Amino acid sequence: MTDHRMPLYVRRIAWWAIVAVLAVSCHRPAPPVASPAHPPVLVVVSLDGFRADYLDRPAAVHLRALAARGVRASRLIPSFPSKTFPNHYSLVTGLYPEHHGIVANVMLDSMLGRFATGNDPSGRDGRWWLGEPIWVTAERQGQRSAIMFWPGNEAAIQGVRPHWWRRYDGRVTNTERVDQVLQWLAMPVDSSPRFIGVYFSDTDDAGHRVGPFGAATDSAIARVDSAVGALMRGIEALNASDFVNLMVVSDHGMANVSRDRLIPLYDYVAPESVTVVDLEPVTTLIPRAGADAYVYAALHDRVPHLTVWRKDSIPERLHYRASARIAPVVALADEGWTVVTQRADNRWQPGETRGAHGYDNELPSMGALFVASGPAFRQGLRVGPFANIHVYSLMTHILGLRAAPNDGSLSAVQEMLRR
Ligand code: AMP
Ligand code: ZN
Ligand code: ZN
Repeated sequence: MTDHRMPLYVRRIAWWAIVAVLAVSCHRPAPPVASPAHPPVLVVVSLDGFRADYLDRPAAVHLRALAARGVRASRLIPSFPSKTFPNHYSLVTGLYPEHHGIVANVMLDSMLGRFATGNDPSGRDGRWWLGEPIWVTAERQGQRSAIMFWPGNEAAIQGVRPHWWRRYDGRVTNTERVDQVLQWLAMPVDSSPRFIGVYFSDTDDAGHRVGPFGAATDSAIARVDSAVGALMRGIEALNASDFVNLMVVSDHGMANVSRDRLIPLYDYVAPESVTVVDLEPVTTLIPRAGADAYVYAALHDRVPHLTVWRKDSIPERLHYRASARIAPVVALADEGWTVVTQRADNRWQPGETRGAHGYDNELPSMGALFVASGPAFRQGLRVGPFANIHVYSLMTHILGLRAAPNDGSLSAVQEMLRR
């Protein structure tokens, strides 16, 4: 039957159906391109403390090559505070720390006690980790996930673990980490992971020791860049470029600190009046019973280079109020300043330069890395700064997963996706 022989009402319905399909396809990004034989896979690499502008250092050759065939952001804006655990967990949940519960590297909870990073058992207790990380989203929707170190991967979160995970061990070499990822990618399609996370600490370690401009930081950039290069070569050798999306991010940047820029807290407030939960550069304090007014008055507008808030007056842009784990008094040092309890704590050598992070998350020095390439991404695109809470939406979209409720949105990052 040809078109003009259709009854008029059938032709009208057909016409409106075509218009509706076109309208929907114009407003939503098309699903990621993948070979019919293999569904899309997402590999997310975290380079701890890789400051956004390290991407233009001479050593970052493979990362720039990846950016040239994909997308790079001028910087990824970390969530506040610009510390490792809060930001790794914002990246994978799309939630601000006030909502995902990891509000600091060190914090107190009235029920759970004290949380700390490193080899502390708290990191393995799922009750600390709120929200839904991408690997739980994936596992719940029938996709396997595999993590080669990521804060939170050692805990059963909502009772769910990644299919493959490892207890954190900083001695595992970068080569072993890359080889593990390539082994996962080489698995048969029906059992292989669709989400893979892997973590490297070199740039954070060196950045703390010598600051962002020290020679050891350039060597660390070269080491993590060559790990990314090995992953890129491995993906090509596996003929997996058609279905693997490679996203390289960091959690925060790094600022120079100096022994000449110290803030001695106990010069201003009596030690017996407060519990210091975390110290630098975000100082979180619990005043002892009855000392609340004294502690606030002693510190607010009194300490050079330190901004002091009561929890309920922390600026909204920091999204740092809603959690009971945030201490009643929060103080933030200016960029490059270090809070110590007393001056005698200064164990640095004269002239020594070091690095720190945790400062105001909108500072360019705290800016993190975002580079991504693969079938889901446009090629050779540079985008402006964007907040790391949007990365979860990007990840769920690429994997075709229904996102859990979160603070980010796909529309903030949609321009980088292929149509
Ligand atoms: P930060 O103190 O914020 O600079 O945290 C960086 C440090 O966190 C790294 O040098 C590691 O020692 C530690 N770290 C990173 N990932 C993990 C993890 N998955 N589990 C335990 N500790 C970790
Ligand atoms: Zn970090
Ligand atoms: Zn660090």
